This record gives sequence, C-alpha cells and structure tokens, in this order.
Amino acid sequence: MTDAVPPVSDIQKYFASASFTQSAAKLAQCPLDEGLETAFAGRSNAGKSSAINRLTGQKKLARTSKTPGRTQLINFFMLKDQQRLVDLPGYGYAKVAISKKLEWQKHLEQYLEKRTSLTGLVLVMDVRHPLQPYDTIMLDWVKQYDLRCHILLTKADKLKRGAAKQALMTVEKAVNRQPNTSVQLFSATKGDGVDAARQVLFDWLH
Ligand code: GDP
Repeated sequence: MTDAVPPVSDIQKYFASASFTQSAAKLAQCPLDEGLETAFAGRSNAGKSSAINRLTGQKKLARTSKTPGRTQLINFFMLKDQQRLVDLPGYGYAKVAISKKLEWQKHLEQYLEKRTSLTGLVLVMDVRHPLQPYDTIMLDWVKQYDLRCHILLTKADKLKRGAAKQALMTVEKAVNRQPNTSVQLFSATKGDGVDAARQVLFDWLH
C-alpha cells in the first residue's frame, strides 16, 4: 500500500509551523542527532533567508539568523518532533577575515559530513549568478558525503521567462552527473516554484 500524498494546504501548514529552537557554532552544540533535518546553504545575499521565509510563510523566521551574532551560526527550526529545518551560515561574506571564513568552512564541512539526521541540502543560488566558487565547493561536499541536493535558482522574477529557462538548463547541464541533485526556478517575491520546493522538502523529511 502506498501512503496518500497530503494536500498542498497540509504541506503548507506543516512548514508554517516552523519555529526557531536554537543556534550552534559547531557540530558539538547542535541538537541531538536524531530524526530528520534539511539544511539550507547559499552565498550571502543569494536569497536564502527570503526563501526560508517564503517556504514557511513566515516573514521574519530567518531574520532570527540575521540577528547580529547569529549570522555565523547554524540555526535550527523545529517543524515537528524530530523534523527540522536548518539555516547554515551564509558563505562568501566579503567583510569577514580569511581566518574566520576558514573556520566557518571547517564547521560547515563537519556538519555536512557527520550529521546523520541530515537528509538533504537545499542550495540557494541567485539565478543571475549561479555556480559561484563556494557553490561548487558545496556541490563537491554533497557528492563526497553522499547527500541529496536540491538547488533553488532564486530571484527568477528578475529575469525574463526565456532567460530564466536558459539559466535553469545551464545549471541542470552542469550538475547532470552529480548524483541525487535536482534544480528548479524559484522566486521568494512572486511565489514561483514554492509548492514544488515544499514538496521536495516534505518528501525528504518523511
Ligand atoms: P541571504 O543573505 O541569502 O539570506 O539573502 P536575503 O534573503 O536577505 O536576500 C538578499 C536580497 O535579495 C534582499 O534584498 C531580498 O529582498 C532580495 N531577494 C531575495 N529573494 C528574492 C526574489 O525571489 N526576488 C527578488 N526580486 N528579490 C529577492
């Protein structure tokens, strides 16, 4: 017997229930590694916070992560007991010293490598500037640590339909050989692709 697919409105309610639980500077400070979680990564300014807010239908949820002092932390949002969304520190932030960047990079990699409840990674890229060097590092880790990856090409509303489709095809082609990796267009502003993205995450978390 196959499980019935819940209606879109139930999936929407599920994500709307997300609430901030805690921050961690490193793996050892994360909540118990039980259940399932899905993490969001992306370059600073790519649109990661806007994507999380749109997916959860909560305007301020990911602002928690932008509170000074929390930007370099891994932030956990509980959906249900043992099901979590995780906001990873934005990478490539220009004003940060190299030594600090290397330290975040180390914690980020350890999280991706060791976290057994991590069921997949959402990689947020600005559709106009996809596959920047840090994104490629993330994709290498995804492969190395055998994770699922869903790429959101966000700010799709900033391109004409044809140009957005072209960008989607370019990225699809680039990750063609990457196992367990999918790509879609997304717009936090207009809502394009929101239901499709929620469906992917819902499936990962169940
Ligand atoms: P983060 O640093 O990756 O969390 O990026 P933010 O979510 O803060 O977004 C960076 C900037 O891009 C902000 O000015 C957002 O309003 C804008 N932005 C984010 N997503 C979209 C989108 O889908 N469409 C448009 N037009 N702007 C967006």
